[in-house]
Amino acid sequence: MCGIFGYVGHPSLKSSRGKSAAKIVFEGLKSLEYRGYDSWGIVVRSQSGKSKLIVEKHVGKIGNSKLDSSLITHHSSLALGHTRWATHGGVTVENAHPHLDCSGKIALVHNGIVENYQELKKTLIGAGHRFKSETDTETVVHLVEEYAKNKPFAEAVRSAFLDVSGLNAFIFLSIGGQMVAVKSGTPLVIGLGKGENFISSDPSALLAHTKRAVFLKDNEIIQLTNNRVNLIDTVSEKRIKPKISNLDWKVEETKPGKFAHYMLKEIYEQPQVLAKIAANGQQIEKLAKIVEDAHGTFFVACGSASYAALSGTYLFAKIAKKHVNFSIGSEFNYLEDYIHSGSLVIPISQSGESVDVVEPVVRAKKRGAKIFAIVNVVGSTLYRTADYNLILGAGVEKAVCATKSWTAMVANLIYLTYALAGRVKDGQKIIEKAAKAVEEILTDQYLNKIKKLVMKLKNSRDVYIIGRGLSYATALEATLKLKEVCYIHSEGFAGGELKHGVIALIEKGTAAIAFAPLDETYEAIISNAIEVKSRGGYIIGVSPKPNEAFDFYLPVADCEEGSIIASVVPIQLLAYYLAVEKGLDPDKPRNLAKSVTVK
Ligand code: GLU
Repeated sequence: MCGIFGYVGHPSLKSSRGKSAAKIVFEGLKSLEYRGYDSWGIVVRSQSGKSKLIVEKHVGKIGNSKLDSSLITHHSSLALGHTRWATHGGVTVENAHPHLDCSGKIALVHNGIVENYQELKKTLIGAGHRFKSETDTETVVHLVEEYAKNKPFAEAVRSAFLDVSGLNAFIFLSIGGQMVAVKSGTPLVIGLGKGENFISSDPSALLAHTKRAVFLKDNEIIQLTNNRVNLIDTVSEKRIKPKISNLDWKVEETKPGKFAHYMLKEIYEQPQVLAKIAANGQQIEKLAKIVEDAHGTFFVACGSASYAALSGTYLFAKIAKKHVNFSIGSEFNYLEDYIHSGSLVIPISQSGESVDVVEPVVRAKKRGAKIFAIVNVVGSTLYRTADYNLILGAGVEKAVCATKSWTAMVANLIYLTYALAGRVKDGQKIIEKAAKAVEEILTDQYLNKIKKLVMKLKNSRDVYIIGRGLSYATALEATLKLKEVCYIHSEGFAGGELKHGVIALIEKGTAAIAFAPLDETYEAIISNAIEVKSRGGYIIGVSPKPNEAFDFYLPVADCEEGSIIASVVPIQLLAYYLAVEKGLDPDKPRNLAKSVTVK
């Protein structure tokens, strides 16, 4: 959600590989496209003649546009860009960021929501400020302008930040050549180059330039020059020594390579991800001890991660004989009264930045709970908030819809529960089996089968998906794939729930997918499939064993609990090819963002 990319090069304009600051930022924004946005803009501080801030803004996708050549040719070592995911104010050029103050001497890009913007705006209008947009963001650039009348620039930013409420990241660029950033809640990371520095809302955008990064913490303010990072605590005003992290992703991971889309590439990467996780037994055993000592364990997650967490509740019960609670992130605040100092809260998140998870986790921590984060991004907010971390090991995931990160979440949970049961080797074997089962699906022969099913379903209005036990979580995850990338109405159910209402929706030809692994759910889910078929439903069976109930059969090798991973892969492929068939971009579904950083 929203992408920010800033660049500070050498003042004598010897910028990175001979490119202009505007070009570097433009490319940085392109690499952040996957986060989801509706408009974009760039500001450069021109050094051609008298210094001035030049802004260019557009509605729509950056991929189809060209940067105004005049912006590129302007001599500049400083530029700042933004892809906006509108929260306050329509999707218009005026509302796109960067926003300027009245004098045109301060530019601002912002991620988040300024919760008290209405009252601030009223006061600023009263003081004579003129607004050009409907955004909450613009309020803050005028506020800094107001403070800057009597204070140095960075001090004005600090004062304005202290007046603002909400979870926000702000980066300012002044006509005097200062870049200043400050945040509370939403992510910002600095990339340290040689004689040049970068700032981004996402570490993956830095990989093309550097692997040395400083993750900005909440309430820290940073002044960035081409060779200095000046970090200060906004409250105590004390200087802080920046902690440098090493980004361990490869730049190739950030490109689609031979694949037409990131989503397809990421589906194909799943066997390697599983193999990597299987080799991680030692870390898993250590972390299992933490869960063992907890008095009350709570999973908190959103979207696909919430379905992985749901599968975790079944896995903990079945394998480790342990009860764990589960809540979706945005609801956890309303349940927090039972959190105490003995509680263990386990947030699960690919980005480690989902605001709906970060916020309740911070509150749980204040109540004394220990935090054990399962995240993909090292250095992310959840990673830093947690007392313990289990790194997913999925690598960079760029498509908006989760594929390999879901797989990594479930595989790590399987492993963790087996470690908790003192059977870590069994867990490892299951993940290895799942890797093999996924490999068997990723063949040309299997793809031909999927493509046949695509032709069958391409005009379907609704697809119902059922599973029981562990496969209930798979049904929900599969459902989300069809909604997100193909815009098909799809609902996932526990098989037993059908006759409590949903079966009323089944008509002749209604497509229904049934997950039927060879576990204790097999017979019951087949009965549910037959109930749907008896009412005219078209049954797509995902199972190691064919059955006469299936009108269309998608075979998946049996891999015990690993079946929940392998079974979702044919539906990931189905969603991908259905989207392509319908002319949709599977990597960038409408209205969605990869990392949800606003409430
Ligand atoms: N609330 C701001 C706006 O609507 C920021 C949106 C964003 O984070 O992209 O412009």
